[in-house]
Amino acid sequence: AAMRTSRIKRTKTVCTYCGVGCSFEVWTKGRKILKIEPQAEAPVNSISTCVKGKFGWDFVNSEERLTHPLIRKGDRFVEATWDEALDLIASKLGEIKQKYGPDSIGVIASSKCSNEENYIAQKFARAVIGTNNVDNCSRYCQSPATAGLMRTVGIGGDAGTIHDIASAGLVIVVGANPAESHPVLATRVKRAHKLRDQKLIVFDLRRHELGERADLYIHPTPGTDLIWMSAVTKYIIDQGWHDQAFLRDRVNGWEEYVASLERYTLDYAAERTGIAREQLIQIAAMIHEADGTCILWAMGVTQHMGGTDTSTAIANLLLVTGNFGRPNAGAYPLRGHNNVQGACDFGTMPAWMPGYEAVQDEKVRAKYERAWGVKLPEQPGLNNHQMVEAITKGKLKAMYLFGEEMALVDSNSNHVEHSFEQLEFFVVQDLFFTRTAQYADVVLPAAPSLEKDGTFTNTERRVQRFYQALQPLGDSKPDWEILQLVANRMGAAWNYRHPSELMAEAASLAPIFAGVTYERLEGWQSLLWPVAADGSDTPLLYKERFAFPDGKARLFPVEWTQPFHPGEEYDLHLNNGRLLEHFHEGNMTYRSEGLTHKVPREWLEVSTELAKERGLESGSLVRLTSPYGHVKVRVEVTDTVQGKELYLTMNTRDPEAAINRLTSSYHDKITHTPNYKEMSVKMEVLEDK
Ligand code: SF4
Repeated sequence: AAMRTSRIKRTKTVCTYCGVGCSFEVWTKGRKILKIEPQAEAPVNSISTCVKGKFGWDFVNSEERLTHPLIRKGDRFVEATWDEALDLIASKLGEIKQKYGPDSIGVIASSKCSNEENYIAQKFARAVIGTNNVDNCSRYCQSPATAGLMRTVGIGGDAGTIHDIASAGLVIVVGANPAESHPVLATRVKRAHKLRDQKLIVFDLRRHELGERADLYIHPTPGTDLIWMSAVTKYIIDQGWHDQAFLRDRVNGWEEYVASLERYTLDYAAERTGIAREQLIQIAAMIHEADGTCILWAMGVTQHMGGTDTSTAIANLLLVTGNFGRPNAGAYPLRGHNNVQGACDFGTMPAWMPGYEAVQDEKVRAKYERAWGVKLPEQPGLNNHQMVEAITKGKLKAMYLFGEEMALVDSNSNHVEHSFEQLEFFVVQDLFFTRTAQYADVVLPAAPSLEKDGTFTNTERRVQRFYQALQPLGDSKPDWEILQLVANRMGAAWNYRHPSELMAEAASLAPIFAGVTYERLEGWQSLLWPVAADGSDTPLLYKERFAFPDGKARLFPVEWTQPFHPGEEYDLHLNNGRLLEHFHEGNMTYRSEGLTHKVPREWLEVSTELAKERGLESGSLVRLTSPYGHVKVRVEVTDTVQGKELYLTMNTRDPEAAINRLTSSYHDKITHTPNYKEMSVKMEVLEDK
């Protein structure tokens, strides 16, 4: 028995899926993953996990893993050595840079990769290629939340911790489905609601699990959240329920802001949002009476043309009611991927260096130029959306993309795939031969989190270490090692031997990480940024100051934006979102037996009324058409959705059923986040049942 256990290895890791950031031990024997064992020491989840964290690991040993570099020869891909692949990449990127300039190249980073890997990716883009054209998938999800918070309170992160959410008097969830997208966080809310009588209000088009449990479930007219938020805020002010001392001492912009609310009367809001006057009053009263209000939001708010403005309205409401800078209160944009927070924090964004210091700030650039020994580009680069447009205009010639299934997850995917065909040179680095890889010239085999060391940052700004449990499969390598090899072929002389050296460099340059070291993160320890040089971290933001030079927050007036509608013939509203058992395009979860067994495919939710009207039943096959494409999907008749609103699960491995065949290229005005949630379609019933 001793022999047997001695061959079993236990390694602390951090979940590779959602932004909750659960950590646990993974038990391995050779390459076999025996079990996931949560431990009481885990700072976020203690002994809990969800089904993905527990059963979602088979993909690591999938026969479909890439184990060698591949190079395109005509219509085929052939196996190549690392030397051949690296030489080709260096010479092609070098040529393109020479011929068209550094801004003809773009880098797409990955929120499935570590902080250190995102740090080295932005350094590669800026210092080696010489461009700020670097972005990550937060552009598809929470960039509007970041922008809304930066306008008002100064930091694009959760105000406090998951503990604060669980301890709040009132939790308001807007356009998010935590029970499926952030399951362990949702269990905290469910428990607080049940045991402590925490109050819960849910705004969503679907009556999902938290909606069912809420004290108040509200179905607003799609795309009208800013209106009810503004009306509730105005009503609170009109009642004299605003936090006058807090507003006087800590907040700027009161008069202009109050003037901007004038039109948002209860009647105006009731008419446009479909929420009854009495309910609007009830919401205001619940906020007024609560001992601390937390507002949680996700894609239902951000993926609209007015996504940044609605996120701003959330921050305004919380400022007016004094719900910042105190425990058990504040703004909580729920981060999707396990490291989408970290990818942004470590600078894979076109306008921000690591730690949210502006690219355009001369002093910031000078600091990095000294440290890196290069001259840096001065202007912000292109974001994901702009890169696609620049390809179609012939301005962007080459792209280096890692850990991102852009061909399926970017909106209007027919258009995106068409743009990829026009690239002169395309490198894709991933675990699998993805849909996106089909358009590549070189495909590089990367290693998942279980095969490397690093850190991830969860939705609470909590940085946690994960440790290597397995060797990289075949010839695959950790993403940071690959990026260093490519950089060195292109003339850099980097010599990072371990991710801790990348973290040390980032900490020496970005003030919010000043005190982050691998020693302080050893084992189950974690740090919530900003982290001072002495190692003290910040579970609760804005205790004394907001992140502006005068230390005061700013109320920021915003106006409602009419959602996009393609025309009357598209008579059904189509919403989309996640499933508990699968993650995004499903490249990892559909390769995990335990999950695929539970949920083998996507489906379309249709209301009972609509099913009756169109003669549909569960299992019917329908075609949905938008101006941008069509999909074929199976129907599930349900009471979760109502009337002419449909819901398509976004996790699919069938490109013919992928939601983004239907979505448009319209986007949030400020951040260019696609308006995935503003979609209308028409539906035909197909013969097959
Ligand atoms: Fe992983 Fe999120 Fe599930 Fe936790 S809640 S186990 S982080 S997917």
